[in-house]
Amino acid sequence: MDGEDTFNRAKLLNIGYAEALKEYDYDCFVFSDVDLIPMDDRNIYKCYNQPRHLAVSMDKFGFRLPYTQYFGGVSSLSKEQFLKINGFPNNYWGWGGEDDDIFNRISSRGMSISRPDGLLGRCRMIRHERDKQNDPNPQRFDRIAHTRETMATDGINSLKYNVVKIEKDLLFTKITVDVGKP
Ligand code: BGC
Repeated sequence: MDGEDTFNRAKLLNIGYAEALKEYDYDCFVFSDVDLIPMDDRNIYKCYNQPRHLAVSMDKFGFRLPYTQYFGGVSSLSKEQFLKINGFPNNYWGWGGEDDDIFNRISSRGMSISRPDGLLGRCRMIRHERDKQNDPNPQRFDRIAHTRETMATDGINSLKYNVVKIEKDLLFTKITVDVGKP
């Protein structure tokens, strides 16, 4: 993300999806937080029959789910699954709620969450301080309560952003984008 303004995780994930499709017609997408490292290589980062939650047992939550509907950290969706929920929300600024919105999108479209077992799904978070621009978003509870009404018009079909820089490395591409402001 370019600049020092408020963070928007779900919008960045939408942008990753859109930019990847400009390179190749991928049919599976793995969305990972930059600070999460899987601890077991049997936790396969691929797509499944249902949207997959991959970071099911994180060290910071004592190696268990913080709550049953938790869909944060790392997830995978096929292109078809992603389009069925109109991608992810673009209007969650700052910390929190966007992963719950994604969970609501998935369940409202009749899909369920697939998960590895807790032992296989262990991962560690790289220690870091929370960014100042990433304070908890007080609007998140209200937003999550209205996913069903907002998801048809807020998502991959309404995504707007500007690419600032593209750096191609051998194993990854780093794309810097301007996500705009709240
Ligand atoms: C937030 C989520 C977050 C979770 C675990 C929830 O209250 O809405 O975005 O992932 O807590 O920290």
